[in-house]
Amino acid sequence: MGETENSIKNNIEQIWKRIDNALARSGRQDDEVTVVAVSKTVGPEMVLKAACNGIINFGENRVQELCQKYDIIKKDVNWHLIGHLQTNKVKYIIDKVKLIHSVDSVQLAREIQNRAQKAGRIVDILIQLNVSGEDTKFGANPEIVMQLLKSINTYPNIKVKGLMTIGPFTEDSEAVRLVFRELKKIFIDIKKENIDNIDMTYLSMGMSNDFEVAIEEGSNIVRIGTAIFGSRK
Ligand SMILES: *Cc1c(COP(=O)(O)O)cnc(C)c1O
Repeated sequence: MGETENSIKNNIEQIWKRIDNALARSGRQDDEVTVVAVSKTVGPEMVLKAACNGIINFGENRVQELCQKYDIIKKDVNWHLIGHLQTNKVKYIIDKVKLIHSVDSVQLAREIQNRAQKAGRIVDILIQLNVSGEDTKFGANPEIVMQLLKSINTYPNIKVKGLMTIGPFTEDSEAVRLVFRELKKIFIDIKKENIDNIDMTYLSMGMSNDFEVAIEEGSNIVRIGTAIFGSRK
């Protein structure tokens, strides 16, 4: 137990160093990167340990797990929904999440709008794009992103804050880099359109195995699980 806790502290320190180095390498030393610690399958005591070591953002990919930890962790932390979200589960998280990273359809956005309106809040979201084209993944086809944005744009209780993607599952870091570069390009193209109510602030890309490449390509939110908490069972 003591050892795991110490390694969480060390892991977090290492990650901040690696982030600083990646920022410096890419001439972005003044930029800020948000670390979302991905706590799926990780017990609440480990989440608390990370929170005691400066982590304020946590990511979950399952609604039920997010809700359970939300109730247990009394500390003032932010919860991010990073995984595929079914429309029938939106109601459970609408008042709990800081940011939903995984909006990839108008139907899902419409449900978020309805629930957010009932809850009397404005919910921040990212649009998840499937840039790599791997068919195992969720995320909208980049070709329909403008169309998607123009629909979501009419929803008063949703604020689009940026884009998210998952890098391809490959050891080839140059292939990964091209995917991240493509998302950054789409991000800039959308920014240039200056669409009302669409704010391109966050680029959520990079996980334990590829966050440095992602930062070199412009990411400002990285979602890191294994490199903080160790490998999942
Ligand atoms: C699990 C997960 C992560 C973190 O993955 P690691 O490789 O453990 O860092 C990041 N993003 C999403 C969407 C995930 O589901």
